[in-house]
Amino acid sequence: MLGMSEMREMLIRRLIEEGVLTQPEVIKAMSKVPREEFVMPELREQAYMDTPLPSLEGQTISAPHMVAIMCQLLSLKPGHMVLEVGAGTGYHAAVCAEIVAPRQPGAKDGHVFAIERIRSLVEFARSNLARCGYSDRVTVIEGDGTLGYPDAAPYDAILVTAAAPRIPPPLKSQLRDGGRMVIPVGEAYSIQDLIVVEKSGSDFKEWTYGGCVFVPLCGRYGWRP
Ligand code: SAH
Repeated sequence: MLGMSEMREMLIRRLIEEGVLTQPEVIKAMSKVPREEFVMPELREQAYMDTPLPSLEGQTISAPHMVAIMCQLLSLKPGHMVLEVGAGTGYHAAVCAEIVAPRQPGAKDGHVFAIERIRSLVEFARSNLARCGYSDRVTVIEGDGTLGYPDAAPYDAILVTAAAPRIPPPLKSQLRDGGRMVIPVGEAYSIQDLIVVEKSGSDFKEWTYGGCVFVPLCGRYGWRP
């Protein structure tokens, strides 16, 4: 039987062959983070299937190809300050942390702030991230991420991993000049648009990357819980 790291390597190779994974820093990060440590323990064997998997409270961990696509659309670089809305299992935050805060001498600072509204997932994410050594590079905050996290703003990158009815205004205002946000916008449990927003001066450029399916973003500027 193949070990977890071999299965991880095979998945990464396939995503490269399919043309999904293209950026070296994202390939490196996804080759490092053990997805099996972030899925529900009974689903470990399925950790390297390219599919979303159930987490807790009817929520999911995104498919690896979607994690790759979103990280690449954000053009993450070492030293970036990242806000994730929808920490879930903590997996995507760990992948971002590997890119923006790599463990290398002389690496620039970089940090991921990940907000989650469901307490059991806040605890799940924190314990997964701690076990895998990311506690000092990822901060999990319990709260409504549609309000952003003004304490650490502005951000170079904002990653929203739940589908919004519209782009929450506080998230736009917490983006640094030149920074990018990726956010699924559309009806819950149907095909949504993955939107990329780039702040340039006082303007925002917006374009649609393609279709996606996410669980709903609930909160003040999201859907009603
Ligand atoms: N990125 C996660 C998967 C996210 S699933 C991972 O890597 O595992 C979407 C998550 O968004 C769910 O856990 C859900 O509880 C959370 N969520 C929905 N609305 C939210 C809000 N307003 N603020 C914070 N988290 C929210």
